Amino acid sequence: MDYFLTEEQIMIRDLVRQIAEEKVVPVREELDEKEEFPWEIMRVLAQSDLFGLFIPEQYGGLGKGCLELCIAVEELSKACVGVSTSYAANALGTFPILLFGSEEQKKKYLPDIAAGKRLVAFGLTEANAGSDAAGIQTTAKLQGDEYVISGTKQWITNGGEAEIYTIIAMTDRAKGARGASAFIIEKGTPGFSFGKKERKMGIRASVTRELVFDNCRVPKTNIIGREGMGFIVAMKTLDSSRTGVGAQGLGVAQGAFEEAVKFARQRVQFGHPIISFQAIQHMLADMATEIEAARALIYSVSRYIDSGAKDISKESAMAKVFATDLGMRVTTNAVQIMGGSGYMRDYPVEKMMRDAKILQIYEGTNQIQRNVIGQELIKEAAKKK
Ligand SMILES: Cc1cc2nc3c(=O)[nH]c(=O)nc-3n(C[C@H](O)[C@H](O)[C@H](O)COP(=O)(O)OP(=O)(O)OC[C@H]3O[C@@H](n4cnc5c(N)ncnc54)[C@H](O)[C@@H]3O)c2cc1C
Repeated sequence: MDYFLTEEQIMIRDLVRQIAEEKVVPVREELDEKEEFPWEIMRVLAQSDLFGLFIPEQYGGLGKGCLELCIAVEELSKACVGVSTSYAANALGTFPILLFGSEEQKKKYLPDIAAGKRLVAFGLTEANAGSDAAGIQTTAKLQGDEYVISGTKQWITNGGEAEIYTIIAMTDRAKGARGASAFIIEKGTPGFSFGKKERKMGIRASVTRELVFDNCRVPKTNIIGREGMGFIVAMKTLDSSRTGVGAQGLGVAQGAFEEAVKFARQRVQFGHPIISFQAIQHMLADMATEIEAARALIYSVSRYIDSGAKDISKESAMAKVFATDLGMRVTTNAVQIMGGSGYMRDYPVEKMMRDAKILQIYEGTNQIQRNVIGQELIKEAAKKK
């Protein structure tokens, strides 16, 4: 299929594809086994200016948009979703500054982020606040010229490895969801430490840690936007990043599909390569068709976002749900096509299937995304009346 990418977009795709094939594929199994953060790969991505893809040129980035970011994430995910998570979480953590930061904050942080000198993480989730983000307990109290932050964030991607953290805390609990605010907190700030490193089913090349704030003092200028805007910052951030999670689903599906085709051509049973059996061909045909449908959706939603559209909740939720459910289905079917071999660690589809599962869970579970789509449909129907 021709998606009418520009020459520049094709160059980005080919560059990331080359990095994925030369630098990621050879080490992905080892990174998974050792549960190791892919610092060497992050350095290569930084040298290729890929951390600055979506950051405006005036802050040292390449000034591209959601489509270019999704293309890069898709290519990395084809090789390893753990690596693509470490890369994409950086964008997730940067969006609060990009979308709502002051000029001073943008000038201070974005050039280093664009250069890949400092990684970023985003902290919303807590032990008792997952889908119900309004239940967060972390507090930020203004004392003189500083906010004093206390609480624990759970399951934060890039936790401990990142230098810059954008987090959400309650500045006025009495106001409920309108009492949350977003902050920038740098690694090394007294009172900010890291808790447990999680041991995960998949994406083991990505690090997931607790962030612990114990009377951590930050200048009041570290607030992003104004007091009370925390959930707007968080929701708009997630709206902007979710299409990228869809791109992860698309990439891992493409990777697993290619492995399944390769295997089905070589594996002989009953005197024939298994790809000659219609049952296998139909599975591959469904996989190929759905992958193209997911790519068409993700690229279209990305272009819609890049056009400057303001209300993107429904579209980004659709892209995330469709492509990540696809990622799970295609990786599972790739294992099925490869039979016992697919279940063994000798082949990459075993890891791909483990990696794909998280995509239906993080950045808002797929049930929650369906709730979002449902709510938007209700609003649209009410407007038509
Ligand atoms: C590996 C990993 C990395 C992560 N990285 C980050 C990160 O960088 N930053 C961050 O802030 N968070 C991060 N998270 C947290 C992640 O976003 C949450 O796990 C996710 O939002 C779901 O929350 P939960 O796990 O508490 O599930 P819960 O909210 O407890 O949900 C449990 C189940 O109930 C369902 N459910 C809940 N409410 C409803 C409802 N109203 N309608 C229908 N179904 C519902 C859910 O869909 C799910 O199936 C990460 C999580 C993991 C596992």
